[in-house]
Amino acid sequence: MQNSPKRFTITAALPYTNGPVHIGHLAGVYVPADIYARFQRIQGKDVAFVCGSDEHGVPITLKAKKEGISPQQVVDKYHAIIKKSFEDFGISFDNYSRTSAKVHHDTASEFFKKLYEEGKFIEQTTEQFYDKEANQFLADRFIVGTCPKCGYEESYGDQCENCGTSHNATDLINPKSAISGNVPSLKETKHWFLPLDQYESWLKEWIIDGHKKDWKANVYGQCKSWIDDGLRPRAVTRDLDWGIPVPVEGAEGKVLYVWFDAPIGYISSTKEWAEREGKDWEPYWKNEDTKMLHFIGKDNIVFHCIIFPSMLKAEGSFILPDNVPANEFLNLEGNKISTSKNWAVWLHEYLIDFPNQQDVLRYALTANAPETKDNDFTWSDFQARNNNELVAIFGNFINRVMVLINKYYDGEVPTPSFFSKFDEAILKELQAYPNVIASSIERYRFREAQAELINVARLGNKYLADEEPWKTIKTDGERTKTVMFVALQIASALAVLCEPFLPFTSEKLKKFLCYSELDSESTWKDISTKQTLLPSGHQIGKGELLFSKIEDSQIQQQLDKLEATKKANKVMETSLTPQKETIQFDDFTKLDMRVGTILEAEKMSKTKKLLILKVDTGLDVRTIVSGIAESFSAEEVIGKKVTVLVNLAPRDLRGVESEGMILMTENSQGKLVFLNPDEDGIDNGMTIS
Ligand SMILES: [Zn+2]
Repeated sequence: MQNSPKRFTITAALPYTNGPVHIGHLAGVYVPADIYARFQRIQGKDVAFVCGSDEHGVPITLKAKKEGISPQQVVDKYHAIIKKSFEDFGISFDNYSRTSAKVHHDTASEFFKKLYEEGKFIEQTTEQFYDKEANQFLADRFIVGTCPKCGYEESYGDQCENCGTSHNATDLINPKSAISGNVPSLKETKHWFLPLDQYESWLKEWIIDGHKKDWKANVYGQCKSWIDDGLRPRAVTRDLDWGIPVPVEGAEGKVLYVWFDAPIGYISSTKEWAEREGKDWEPYWKNEDTKMLHFIGKDNIVFHCIIFPSMLKAEGSFILPDNVPANEFLNLEGNKISTSKNWAVWLHEYLIDFPNQQDVLRYALTANAPETKDNDFTWSDFQARNNNELVAIFGNFINRVMVLINKYYDGEVPTPSFFSKFDEAILKELQAYPNVIASSIERYRFREAQAELINVARLGNKYLADEEPWKTIKTDGERTKTVMFVALQIASALAVLCEPFLPFTSEKLKKFLCYSELDSESTWKDISTKQTLLPSGHQIGKGELLFSKIEDSQIQQQLDKLEATKKANKVMETSLTPQKETIQFDDFTKLDMRVGTILEAEKMSKTKKLLILKVDTGLDVRTIVSGIAESFSAEEVIGKKVTVLVNLAPRDLRGVESEGMILMTENSQGKLVFLNPDEDGIDNGMTIS
């Protein structure tokens, strides 16, 4: 770990532009990254905090297909929504770019070209999955199949969402095309691979030996298991028409793999920022006295700890991240957050229901941050954090101070007479907090840091409760002045210390305290070293409530919204077919349905679905071909009583004449079920009406 870096390059995972951002993104990546970046800036450090939209993912082309619009239209729409959400929540990026920007296309192309020219890639012709019907090679996300590691049946070609394992599409068991549903065929195609196996011993040394102590256990553990499993060459190009074209001859119709291009987005975003600010971008990526950090969620660990560092190492002129403080996942009310199932709290929607309460959400998310394990966001916890902590502790303390100073001294900071031992002890305790909070932030323990911040407000409340200035004002004017002076110093410290966590509150509080009228604003360090942060005679403003109580009805409204989502999902899952056109009774009576018994059954050869049945219908014994072989074996159905439509015109099915139809239904798992008149006293030939 570097102790006194000259500058910080802080990156936050590039969000996919196939949907808006939700609380899981905020809690896992953007709030912690923002706390860290703001904290370093307050310390006077040189910070480049960069991010941008990842606009080349295959999910984007899937989304475009689904919505019948172009991929560009998809990314334009979500880039705007995401960018605004980040601004609304005070995520203080120095630059928010997008990977469709020219600077990024150029940067990523040059990066690839350099590695290509220096022979850092392996060129390989391999067989890749190809969908004949769709007439295209299938990108990883267009292939679903069974995960070879955990058996999850909906695993994507490149990564299993269930166990997190990353693999090649050809490793999947029973692969299917997500476009047509067909079994894809293999077709030859040429690609470039980064030989990760050649970086294995270097990665071992750098991570396993070098970062055992300072990297988070979840991150270190994942890396170790990856390296222990052995690394294999990884393709960095894809057959796809959406992305950055591979900039070499003979690569027509191929683009850079999104995981090759996306992390380079951090570099191009830094370039864009530096150009705008008239700075040189290179020290932020190439000087050893720069501390580089990647804030990400746990699903991105392998890309930021293994693949991107190997790319940087291969290039040769870049520094490596000092740390990758990845978080686990945040769940919502006990269930995994899901964009497709709409199981989320969307940031743009939150602000409609809770206008101007960004800090409340930031606070609740940090208090529950999934720093060491998956964690749960519940609306009742959100309400409790607001009402019991922000309102009752932080807001209450500030409000008392503002009201009393205005009431007793017309808003002028009083002159203290002399500090009692208790005052001295309180001020000493206050002076310890900046280092305590800083130490937690430097170790990426943001929950702990924020809890200490609230302890500062607790200290203030306890001080006022012990000294009771509202009583002493009648008996001891001098003592009251001293007490209110001390209380104001605590309020002033809070205005500075809360900025990384609650930036909007910090701004308000500084305004209440008329910080802009001071000769020099107090700094983080001043709180540890100076007894006076707000001088006597300084005029403060009136102030207003910093936080307001959140009512049960507001929480109920959110819970109702989630309940409605649950119901809607259930309907979607069972996917009921709409009712057909109304028919007359005469139409119904045309159908002749009887009870029958299956006497014999055999699988029709060369088919998957068909059984040839001999059925006693009471009228006769006839042959019926039924498409039930995927749900039942021949042996299982012999002897079963079934419902038969007997007057259906005979049909030829693969050379066998079928005289009727067995009535079936299908359960939610897709298994067929007989409509079953299998009870005593029901005889073959009985009419169903
Ligand atoms: Zn799996």
